[in-house]
Amino acid sequence: MRKQIVAGNWKMNNDLAQTETLIANLKAQTKTTNAEVMIAPTATNLWHAYNSTKGTGIEVIAQNMHFAENGAYTGEVSAAMLKSIGINTVILGHSERREYFNETDETLAKKVDAALAKGMRIIFCFGEELADRKAGNEEAVVGSQIKNALFHLAAADFQNIVLAYEPVWAIGTGETATADQAQDMHAFIRKTLADKYGNDVADEVSILYGGSVKPANAEEIFSKPDVDGGLIGGAALNAEDFFGIVNAF
Ligand code: 13P
Repeated sequence: MRKQIVAGNWKMNNDLAQTETLIANLKAQTKTTNAEVMIAPTATNLWHAYNSTKGTGIEVIAQNMHFAENGAYTGEVSAAMLKSIGINTVILGHSERREYFNETDETLAKKVDAALAKGMRIIFCFGEELADRKAGNEEAVVGSQIKNALFHLAAADFQNIVLAYEPVWAIGTGETATADQAQDMHAFIRKTLADKYGNDVADEVSILYGGSVKPANAEEIFSKPDVDGGLIGGAALNAEDFFGIVNAF
């Protein structure tokens, strides 16, 4: 059975006091599903979040990291640094990183290698822009994002990889892909993996959907056979909404 995962990407939101409040509110929620729950606070609050969620079943994960182990990369954080504070999972390839920080498939392949070398788990994000979908190119775009950043890996590496399909046009816009659009793309992603690595690998990789997931639409999206969970932005900033989504399985 593939893991079901709901991960909250807090993006550049919540200072320390707000992080404390949101974590306290999250701890007051009840989980009624088997889904793994993760939260990704901003880098300055990872250590606090790690300590204050110990024993709760909520995993604290990072939003980004650099590919170098250490050295002259002002402002950056390495996999080793994350590991040293108990962080074992990192989001890589988010569309905001690609758009605003010029992260290319090539950069991301290096980040993937660096995270795996440290034994980290990766939530690897990709997704087409609106123009790609309007032109009918969404599968070509998604296929090339996956191939360019991940297809140098060995099959065994996929034990530590979770995929997250986030159509750019659905992020923070209130516009969700329909459950069928998500399913179609997730099936294509799984086939892409199966063609390269075989069904055993493809069947084991969890594929999350991200883009305006809310308590009201989560159940329908998660009911699709190839949707194994969600990567949640805005709705992850409210504990009740977030657990409304976690409990939608
Ligand atoms: P929203 O849920 O706010 O659309 O954000 C999705 C996202 O980018 C999660 O990484």
